[in-house]
Amino acid sequence: MDLTSPARDINHSCNPNTGIRDNDRGGFDFIALREIVPPEEITWDYETSEYVSIAVPRCLCGEANCRSVIRGFKYRRHDKHWQPTHLARYLGGNQLPGGSDDR
Ligand SMILES: [Zn+2]
Repeated sequence: MDLTSPARDINHSCNPNTGIRDNDRGGFDFIALREIVPPEEITWDYETSEYVSIAVPRCLCGEANCRSVIRGFKYRRHDKHWQPTHLARYLGGNQLPGGSDDR
């Protein structure tokens, strides 16, 4: 995946405050999953968008649900404890712009 800003500037978290949604321009929109209050850092779960992830081999997010090893959707998809609310369409997500995922 070739990331541009702002994705390039957003760090991974195992308990992210944003999720991704495919947009009609072939990219992603970042959707707030809860209220984000400054100076809280904006984060997303890289395994919801990267089939194989090399950016964060060892996660240090510090969240109670930290998965420690972030290798990508390819390796995470069978983890029954991982239930992402947003997932890239090419990984099997169905977050279509304006679709039923808009809550
Ligand atoms: Zn983590």
